[in-house]
Amino acid sequence: MRVLLIEDDNALGALLRRRLGGESMVVDWVRRLEDARGACREFAYDVVILDRGLPDGDGLDLVGTLRASAGKPRILVLTARGATRERISGLDAGADDYLGKPFDPDELAARCRALGRRPAILPEETIIIANISLNQSLRSVSVAGTKLTLPRRELLILECLIRNKGRVVPRERLLEQVYGFDDEIESNGLETNISRLRKTLRVAGGQVEIRVVRGIGYFIRATPAGSAR
Ligand code: CA
Repeated sequence: MRVLLIEDDNALGALLRRRLGGESMVVDWVRRLEDARGACREFAYDVVILDRGLPDGDGLDLVGTLRASAGKPRILVLTARGATRERISGLDAGADDYLGKPFDPDELAARCRALGRRPAILPEETIIIANISLNQSLRSVSVAGTKLTLPRRELLILECLIRNKGRVVPRERLLEQVYGFDDEIESNGLETNISRLRKTLRVAGGQVEIRVVRGIGYFIRATPAGSAR
């Protein structure tokens, strides 16, 4: 198992390299994001241990690059202990696990072993329909490779439709996805969100359409060839 350790603290980095090396893991240790990018271009890693506070930026900025790199590594983020917000943002950014500092190196080693046993991210992580792709771990949607910025509810609706491509998604199910228990549901809020979403997709050049099945729900499909747009 090959591990990329991204940690700028010399004492901690040396300790972890020794500890994980003793587990017969191959550990490459870098201190900067820039060096980590270089390492990922050259080697395929099974697990990446990612510190957040690095001299040239926040480790989380690297998650997307790591995900797309050759070994499809599992990512463990090191955060300040008790910083719930940091843990949440780490997981939201696509990390697989986190550990609060200071931590027991034995626990880190155990978590690395566990992550190493997990199957790599499956290709289904990304769902493609026409020129639209949904990256399920990063929660992002791209049109022809360009990331689309969407308000939260529209993103939730689009995610749900794309995950269920080829099927009609009942209106109630979309409402459940989009509104929490305490949210007030405006009578045609969903329709408003969907019409905005259609417009955003059209403007961005998305070759898909969101169709309604009256009284039942919605589905997404690739725009049929030759149809007027
Ligand atoms: Ca640091």
